[in-house]
Amino acid sequence: MANRNQHDTKTESFLSNLMKFFFIFFVLLIIILSIHYMGFLDDIETTPTDPSTQTSTVPTKTETTERHTTTSDTVSVEITTQETTTEIVTYPPATVPTNRPKPPETMTTPPIVNRYDISDEAMKELIEVRYLTIHPNSRSGKKLTELKNIVVHYTGNPRSTADQNWRNFENNKPNTSAHFIIGLEGEIIQCMPLDEVAWAVGTDGNYTSISIECCHPDETGKFTDETYESLVKLVSWLCNKFGLGRDAVIRHYDYPRYTSSGYEWHKQCPLYYANEKDPASHRRWEEFKDDLIIND
Ligand SMILES: [Zn+2]
Repeated sequence: MANRNQHDTKTESFLSNLMKFFFIFFVLLIIILSIHYMGFLDDIETTPTDPSTQTSTVPTKTETTERHTTTSDTVSVEITTQETTTEIVTYPPATVPTNRPKPPETMTTPPIVNRYDISDEAMKELIEVRYLTIHPNSRSGKKLTELKNIVVHYTGNPRSTADQNWRNFENNKPNTSAHFIIGLEGEIIQCMPLDEVAWAVGTDGNYTSISIECCHPDETGKFTDETYESLVKLVSWLCNKFGLGRDAVIRHYDYPRYTSSGYEWHKQCPLYYANEKDPASHRRWEEFKDDLIIND
């Protein structure tokens, strides 16, 4: 029994040492193979030093091989799939030093372009000059003493055109007139030179102002968009031409009138912007002045 046990112990010791040897051998073998096949060291050597280069690995081809093994009674097929990869290294474009100044990093704001062209050339195109015949009751032929104001009116005659109002001044001599008439389509007729007196405001203001009559389609006195646009252009152009500020632009309404008994009243002209029954009309007038393109 003792010998038997001794023999068994030696055998077990031998087997144990053999297993340890193989274990260590296999561990070493696995480490060596891993270093070789994983390319660990190769990667370190070929990693691009330039950080701007980019490396990408693209699978390009997949190879599938089939190995058929035939034995006497079985047929086995062993399929091996191997993927080969191609490494693509992308380098940044070469930079060429240049003395050219760099563009500014922030965009400059483009200059604001006026909504309307109010150059002399554009206004000459827009305005039809058709002077009235000189007559005491329309185009007086008198000269302004100075120019203080540009005055806006409405005709008070719904749907009438600029041409009809001009003919009324010319033919009926109604003891009223204006320097300009703006029609429903935005057309402008100039009735007299700008240094002459028109009978428009019913006060001495006639001698210090240029008056503009505006046509309107209905009783509210509201101007069409076309009339409004031409009015903005014309008033802006006149103010810039004669060095007048926004405050010089007034309504017929703004000239106080007095009855024989001394009672002050204001003509509600132009009605849509000077209607005493419509508080919004005064706000509209302020908005109109805001729309003007005046360098003041
Ligand atoms: Zn008026």
